[in-house]
Amino acid sequence: MAMAIFKGGVHPEYRKELTASLAISVAPLPEKVVIPLQQHIGAPCEPLVEVGDAVKTGQKIGESEGFVSAPVHASISGRVTAIGPYNHPLGRKVAAVTIESDGQDEWDGQIGPLENYVECSPEELRDAIREAGIVGMGGATFPAHVKMSPPEGKAIDTVIINGAECEPYLTADHRLMLEEPEKVVIGLEVMMRVLGAGKGIIGIEDNKPDAIRVIGQLIEDKPALSVVPLKTKYPQGAEKMLIQVITKRQVPSGGLPLDVGVVNHNTGTAAAVADAVLTGRPLIERVVTVTGEGIRRPANLKVRLGTLVSELTELCGGLSDDTRKLIVGGPMMGLAQPTTDLPVIKGTSGILALTGEEVELIESDTCIRCARCVAACPINLVPTFIAQAAEHGRFARAEKLHAADCIECGCCAYVCPARIPLTQWMRVAKAEVLARRKG
Ligand code: SF4
Ligand code: SF4
Repeated sequence: MAMAIFKGGVHPEYRKELTASLAISVAPLPEKVVIPLQQHIGAPCEPLVEVGDAVKTGQKIGESEGFVSAPVHASISGRVTAIGPYNHPLGRKVAAVTIESDGQDEWDGQIGPLENYVECSPEELRDAIREAGIVGMGGATFPAHVKMSPPEGKAIDTVIINGAECEPYLTADHRLMLEEPEKVVIGLEVMMRVLGAGKGIIGIEDNKPDAIRVIGQLIEDKPALSVVPLKTKYPQGAEKMLIQVITKRQVPSGGLPLDVGVVNHNTGTAAAVADAVLTGRPLIERVVTVTGEGIRRPANLKVRLGTLVSELTELCGGLSDDTRKLIVGGPMMGLAQPTTDLPVIKGTSGILALTGEEVELIESDTCIRCARCVAACPINLVPTFIAQAAEHGRFARAEKLHAADCIECGCCAYVCPARIPLTQWMRVAKAEVLARRKG
């Protein structure tokens, strides 16, 4: 069967070979973690601990009353030594709880699995997912329990697990599907039960044939589940693209996947859901790809949340002298960082150290009206016009040009021969349009 494909997109150099064959290794227990009280989209948490308190691994240390929020937990046992602003991957300082380890990694005694989770009600499962602090781990960080609470009248028939991992360099999801496929499948089944969905689909790009095979074998006797191989093309893993290619349904402008009966989650999120119901463990660790030519020994590491990026780069042999750019996330959608003194959070899929050869530090020029950005945009926007509108503060025009539909995939900037920072302008335009809509 021919694989469906979406319009636009790009084929960047993938560079996944640096880590694709490297099994996940468990990073040593950090001596210190910094746990930001906001690691999700929505209301920030308030601290539940004070400086000087002893905490155990898995203990809830931050919570919010807001529905769109997710609690945070201690990722090591030890003592709280500070609560205050700390560098955050989003580029600003955010209130965070610093914990110095006692070296014991003693777990909170309250934690335990959901007994007979297969017999639990959807509400019990959803509560367990919320209590575990699970958010979208592909980088979106939207609280998982909110996605699993569709408004009345919105029936969900399909849950899609995003195993595309279309960002260059990243291989954490790939390794997770190879090494812990059972968790990915159990997480999917739990999500289907919560949503009453009859169909579960795992979409995997065809540059990961081993993952397609392993997951495919695992679900052979599960007729409600299927694996859909996807053509390798960036941004195949973007929610709207994935849904369109797999279900032939189009998420409307300004709409959500649930408007077309679909909920979409990342591979890591599915594994975290399985952990929450099977062991009762909250989200306190994740797999991170540490890579790029600037990293001496690239790796896929399972790390405790709050571990400092500086510690991970050291663990991987340190940064080479010709490192020019540090990125948290993938090279297309990740954010460049001025420092390694910042923590791994729930949405940190990768840490990239790129050398001068890998990044083109070229000054931008004027637009030559080539329309390559238009051809590359998978959402059918006209990036050059929106960028110009944003640059001149003409946000009403940006709105008319549907700036709010931009998925910030970076394809337009990638193909622009004038090296205009189109994605940055799109982010400016989108943020302003959405802020004006809120009033
Ligand atoms: S305009 Fe937005 S959605 Fe379109 S290519 Fe650029 S970043 Fe991607
Ligand atoms: S790709 Fe760059 S140069 Fe070409 S039209 Fe778009 S903004 Fe202008």
